[in-house]
Amino acid sequence: MATEGLGLYLHIPFCASRCRYCDFVTWARKEHLIPAYLEALVREIEGFHGKGLAAKTIYFGGGTPSLLKAEEIGGLLRAIGESFRVPPGAETTLEANPADGGLGYFKALVGLGVNRLSLGAQSFDDGELRLLGRRHGAADIARTFTQAREAGVENISLDLIYGLPGQGLGAFRQNLESALGLEPEHLSLYALCLEKATPLEKAVSWGELPDPDPDLQAEMYLLAEGLLDEAGYRHYELSNWAKPGRECRHNLIYWENGPYLGLGAGAHSYFQGHRSARVSSIEDYICRLESGESPISESEEIGPELEMAETMFLGLRLVGGVEDRAFARRFGRPPCSFFGTQIEELVGLALLEERDGCLSLTPRGRLLANQVFCRFLG
Ligand code: SF4
Repeated sequence: MATEGLGLYLHIPFCASRCRYCDFVTWARKEHLIPAYLEALVREIEGFHGKGLAAKTIYFGGGTPSLLKAEEIGGLLRAIGESFRVPPGAETTLEANPADGGLGYFKALVGLGVNRLSLGAQSFDDGELRLLGRRHGAADIARTFTQAREAGVENISLDLIYGLPGQGLGAFRQNLESALGLEPEHLSLYALCLEKATPLEKAVSWGELPDPDPDLQAEMYLLAEGLLDEAGYRHYELSNWAKPGRECRHNLIYWENGPYLGLGAGAHSYFQGHRSARVSSIEDYICRLESGESPISESEEIGPELEMAETMFLGLRLVGGVEDRAFARRFGRPPCSFFGTQIEELVGLALLEERDGCLSLTPRGRLLANQVFCRFLG
């Protein structure tokens, strides 16, 4: 379970162009708003000054944080350092597009304390990258990765998407092998999900592209489990693999249902017993911060029952599962006291297993995880 301190997330909702599968809170062609947005973000950070909060991890996500200049990231980190207690060497991640960066840029980031890079590779095949509408090519990934390494970034994660329309098992294997060839510390693999009204979803629904095959996606997942295990990566979360000790500490806070504060337009938080969201419009966010109004647009108090259910289904995303003792420390009793019926049924279906005081998904349960999670939400 989470130890003292929260995860601090900063949302950078700008992209140079929109990818064809994306439905994130992010915009293209609004870069002219970056200076005003950063001013508003600094104002929001400063609002936490004097509250005695510790940020044990910092995460710049987006959108495309690598569109920001190094000095702009430095300005945000300075404001964070003045308003939060940040332990030395705190995991500080920046999401980057392989088309951005450069040796000087990464050196500057390392000098500012950025010690982890999450590189949105998605695929090592130019045709697939075009299909996804990515603005980088395959060659950019290796170049940017090498520059980041040379600049001293010792902890690099690569994101890949699998199960693209028309992608076969062999093509996915090649992507995995190309990724492994770079020797990243961490890999995140996401099955393509066709989000409503995105250009890719429309192309599939109009019959211009084949529907991704869920059985083939499952085969790809199993292939990845085998290959990454052989290569020395530990599968620690449904979609995430890491070299020992290189698990993403920031994301572990989410899965352990710990506190995090998401600042910026469209960011989400779980803080002081509430889940909340900030306004998603960049202009609205800037306006609210300029006029001293709260940027929070939605907030829900999380009562003990919901907190327990969330702790279960978030914790089950972890391959190590939910530890009885940690759960009991938080809620007074182990999971079986509250979810006995569900656990018994799911163990009977071979979707969950109990071992060494931990409750976790079976390999079959990992393929049907959403069905398991639903059971805990009633
Ligand atoms: S770069 Fe990321 S956030 Fe931006 S449009 Fe593409 S997938 Fe979405």
